[in-house]
Amino acid sequence: MRDCGSVGLSGAGPLASGRDLVEFVLSAHGGTVASSSVPNGGLEATCQGCGACFLLKTFVQACPECNGVHAVSPLRASDQAAIQFAGTDFVRSIAFESLPRMAGGDK
Ligand SMILES: [Zn+2]
Repeated sequence: MRDCGSVGLSGAGPLASGRDLVEFVLSAHGGTVASSSVPNGGLEATCQGCGACFLLKTFVQACPECNGVHAVSPLRASDQAAIQFAGTDFVRSIAFESLPRMAGGDK
């Protein structure tokens, strides 16, 4: 089996679900994927924590209402149904400190 990276997380991968997927995307390519823009201007997401609608502009993004962390696999970046939610308790555990703050990446 061959994938595009050397990420050797067991049980995780681009097709994982829930927190596994979020953690996979967070760690993919040293974190650069997580802060990369989702193609086609983003993906409409419904927060799986509080139900708010927001636009997922980067592969990992927190809900603007409740800070619930959502992610979508780069392999399924156009699939709204592929958006995964890390769970309500995930917010505190990552605090996004390891991520480059999403500096409005418009060029
Ligand atoms: Zn929310």
